[in-house]
Amino acid sequence: MEGFVPHQCNCGKTVESRCRDCSFTAYFCLDCCNHLHQTKHHFHHPEIIQDGVWKLHTVPDRTLSNPYHSCSFSYTRK
Ligand SMILES: [Zn+2]
Ligand SMILES: [Zn+2]
Repeated sequence: MEGFVPHQCNCGKTVESRCRDCSFTAYFCLDCCNHLHQTKHHFHHPEIIQDGVWKLHTVPDRTLSNPYHSCSFSYTRK
């Protein structure tokens, strides 16, 4: 299915992003992508399409902290 991009997100909006860490067939609109990756899947690296090119997407307001990681180091990614 490489190269296949659906035109609509599950919510009905235009697909603008994908996440290969979710699934090789996971495509989202920007809102769904941001929401999903803000609330869970904090360590995924979703991409957005710009001018036909997939680029790494920085999810806004995402706090990187891993409750399963005992290291005291945590930070907010801008
Ligand atoms: Zn994901
Ligand atoms: Zn959506």
